Amino acid sequence: MNIHEHQAKEILKDFGVPVSKGIVIFSENDIAKDTKNLDTNKKYVLKAQIHAGGRGKAGGVKLVEGGKELENEAKKMFGKNLVTHQTGPEGKKVQRLYIEEASDISKEFYLSCLVDRESSKIAFISSTEGGMDIEKVAMETPSKILTKKIDFSDQGPTKSEIAEIISIFKFNENQKKIAEKLVVSLYRILIEKDANLIEINPLIITKDDKIICLDAKMNFDDNAIFRRPEILKLRDLNEEEPAEIEASKHDLAYIKLNGSIGCMVNGAGLAMATMDIIKLYGEEPANFLDVGGGATKEKVTAAFKLILADKNVKGILINIFGGIMRCDVLALGVVEAAKQVNLSVPLVVRLAGTNFKEGKEILDKSNLKILSASDLNDAAKKIVGAIK
Ligand code: GDP
Ligand code: MG
Repeated sequence: MNIHEHQAKEILKDFGVPVSKGIVIFSENDIAKDTKNLDTNKKYVLKAQIHAGGRGKAGGVKLVEGGKELENEAKKMFGKNLVTHQTGPEGKKVQRLYIEEASDISKEFYLSCLVDRESSKIAFISSTEGGMDIEKVAMETPSKILTKKIDFSDQGPTKSEIAEIISIFKFNENQKKIAEKLVVSLYRILIEKDANLIEINPLIITKDDKIICLDAKMNFDDNAIFRRPEILKLRDLNEEEPAEIEASKHDLAYIKLNGSIGCMVNGAGLAMATMDIIKLYGEEPANFLDVGGGATKEKVTAAFKLILADKNVKGILINIFGGIMRCDVLALGVVEAAKQVNLSVPLVVRLAGTNFKEGKEILDKSNLKILSASDLNDAAKKIVGAIK
C-alpha cells in the first residue's frame, strides 16, 4: 500500500525527522479558508498529492509567493490531470494539495531504506544525485550510488554501518549528527510500521545549512497491514485502480495491464505462463488474474465481470488447471457471469484436470459462443486469431 507525501512526512515528523512546515488541502473550495493564516511574505511550494513520482517535471510541484499567487496557483493545480513517467498515459487527477514553506536549496541528495528480498537484509541506498530519477542515475552513473545492506536486528544499524551509509554525502560534523539520526529513524519506521520502502528524494541541505527531507515516499507491506490500523487509515482509494479495489473485495489477485486479451487463470505461475504465451503470439494481456485455488462460483463470476468491465478487452482466455479448483465450478461461474453481463467478445476456454468433463458439458450446454482449446498453445493461438 502506498501513502501520500504529506502522510509520509507526518510519520517522519513523529520519528523526529526534519521536514518543512506544511498544510494539506482536500478541496478546492477550502483553499481560501485553509491558507488564510499563512504568512503572505513567505514563499511556498505547492505539491500535488498523487501516488506517483516525477511530479516536478509534470507541473505538480510549484514554487510560489504567499498570498494571491499562492491562491491562484493552488486553484489551477486542483483537479489538474498530471501525467508523469509513473502515472501511465492516462495520468492522475489532483484531489489533494500540500502547501509547504519553501526551502532555499543548496544541495539535493537521495536516501532510501528498503527490504531487500534477495539477500533478506535491509538495504540503504544513498546518492549525491538527489532530486532526479534514481533509476537513471543507477543506469548512467552507478558510481554515484552507494548500497549498504545490513542484517536485521532489534538494535538497528551499527555506528560503522551508519557512517558508511552517509559517507557518500561528505557532510560536516554537525550535518553528520543529523544524518545519523535520520538513518536510525528510517530503519525504525521500516520495522515499526512494516514498510517495504521509504524513499527521501531529495534530502536537502539548505543555504543556511539545515538538513530537510523535501520529498518522501513510503510503501507498506500489504500482508502486515492488518496489524497496522494506523497505516491502513491512510489508504486513499481515489489513488487505486477501481478494478483492483473491486478485486480485493473478492480476494482475487488482479492487476490491470494495458493489453487487449483478458486472462482468467488459477495459480500465479500458470497466470504468468499464460501472459507469456499471449505475448509469444503477438498480443498483450489486459490483466494478470489469479482466481486462486478454491475459487467459488461467486468468485469466478466476480472475476469474469472484472475482465469484461475493462474497455480494452477484445477477447478472453480462460486457462484453468483443475486441482483443488474444480473445472465445473469455474464453468458455472463463467455461465452465471455471462448471463449477467453481455458477452460480446470472443472467449477461448482451456480446461484440464479435476472435473474438466463436467465443466466442458456445462459450457457446451450454455449456448455461449465458446472456442474450446486442447492445450495452452492452441488456446493462445485461437484467442489471438479470434480478435484479429
Ligand atoms: P517529485 O518530482 O514528484 O519527486 O517531487 P519532489 O517533491 O521531489 O519535488 C521535485 C523538485 O522540486 C525537487 O527535486 C526540488 O528541486 C524542487 N522543490 C521541491 N520543494 C522545493 C522547495 O521547497 N524549494 C525549492 N527551491 N525547490 C523545491
Ligand atoms: Mg521527489
